[in-house]
Amino acid sequence: MSYLLKENYVRYECTCGSLRSIAELYFCRHCLEFRCGYCVCHEVDSHYCSNCMEHLPSAEARLKKNRCSTCFDCPNCFHPLSVRATMRSAEDGASKGTPAKRYFLSCFFCRWTTRDVNIPDQTVAAGSWPIKENPDAELLSSYLEYYKMTAMTERSQKEKKSFSSIRKGYNSLTDKYGLTAMIARKRAGLPSLPLAGKDLNQTTLPIIKPCTAVENIEPLPDSYYTEVPDLTKVTTLEQRHANPMLQPEYTNMLHPQHRHFYIKRSLRCRKCEHNVSKPEYNPGSIKFKIQHSAYYHMPEVRIMTYEPLICGKRSEIILKVTNPTQHLTSLQFNDLIDYIEGEKQKTIQQEQIDGKKETTHSGVAKLKHSIITNAKVELPSCSVILPPRDDAAEYDDSGDTHNFQDDPKIVVWRKGNKAAIKFAITPDKLLEQDEEIIFGFSLEYGYVNTMPTLEQRQPQRTEMQVNLYINPGKVSQGK
Ligand SMILES: [Zn+2]
Ligand SMILES: [Zn+2]
Ligand SMILES: [Zn+2]
Ligand SMILES: [Zn+2]
Repeated sequence: MSYLLKENYVRYECTCGSLRSIAELYFCRHCLEFRCGYCVCHEVDSHYCSNCMEHLPSAEARLKKNRCSTCFDCPNCFHPLSVRATMRSAEDGASKGTPAKRYFLSCFFCRWTTRDVNIPDQTVAAGSWPIKENPDAELLSSYLEYYKMTAMTERSQKEKKSFSSIRKGYNSLTDKYGLTAMIARKRAGLPSLPLAGKDLNQTTLPIIKPCTAVENIEPLPDSYYTEVPDLTKVTTLEQRHANPMLQPEYTNMLHPQHRHFYIKRSLRCRKCEHNVSKPEYNPGSIKFKIQHSAYYHMPEVRIMTYEPLICGKRSEIILKVTNPTQHLTSLQFNDLIDYIEGEKQKTIQQEQIDGKKETTHSGVAKLKHSIITNAKVELPSCSVILPPRDDAAEYDDSGDTHNFQDDPKIVVWRKGNKAAIKFAITPDKLLEQDEEIIFGFSLEYGYVNTMPTLEQRQPQRTEMQVNLYINPGKVSQGK
């Protein structure tokens, strides 16, 4: 039996309409709806260094420019660099009897070392590595300062307007450019600007020179055209872009950079603002405080096996369904349902997306699927019961089938909380050779909501429905 695990063989339709594999979907237990990466809010919980596991709150990480102060990355292959120690030799000036160590940074992956680019060995292991300053640091910080001031000016203007829209004049102008900004800085606990102490009536905005076009450009040296380039000495684009401020051209200009922080993030349902995923704060932990991935809450469908797909010919396909929950569920297979987010039953007032809407008798607007299926599917007519998940049953080979009265034409195999169900698909006659087959159906299953609400303390049983799209493979023309 071949298990097809590639993620886009089976895709589920999220509430927002995007197709995702089950591993990319979340389930909000409050709204009872699926959420994908597009329909959750992403929030940064903590910043941490994946090498030394130091973690910082966001404000502090921003001050450190989102880089770890102790760890460095290899400028050649981007792996973390390790500190290596060697003994100081006599000619280095070490006095006899005091063996002193010297340190250099080395990459254990590509063997790049700081000695390759003539960075001198250090006498202490951490804290003294030379840093290449950004050659345009001054210009950039002047821009930053300018934008900060502009923002501050605009804000104070807004505030002034709200206080009194009549009082205008020179006096308020000076306030805008000097005093207000200074007071705001003081309030924020920032040191006052060097200019702020001077004449306040003078503008404190840094002057930005506009860019000008240059007429004459120095021609490239002849060596560019006459000599064969030595690619081992030239950096790759990736290496250059890893250090945007220096953009080293040659490998001997590579310089180790402080390692970027990684983040841990939590995801929040956009509708009810409850978390669907929240990791443990500690960066060393891979556990979650909250993790409502869809694969804990809905039946997982996988393709087990199928007959060759030939245009216009019926072929059988067996899907394996697994119930991951602690509750018995019953599955039903229907035609694809049409709905748009949050409007399953409600009437829609406003006009909908580019005329794809059609209004039915009951006034319910329906959105046609953007996904076009190209195979007809014969769905099992009866419902299929799946027992709850039982971890111990995984190791039970006694073949206990719970005595379900299954139709052997539909349920071809069953074990524990899993069942293999037979479907039949007929690819369209007019398909091209090797075209991808896609068919879909809606899966209806019973879900037990154990989330206590104000009205209901007891677990509630609800029927859930989700559209599934399945890509078993390519079609052949056949003869
Ligand atoms: Zn979504
Ligand atoms: Zn670090
Ligand atoms: Zn390396
Ligand atoms: Zn929600």
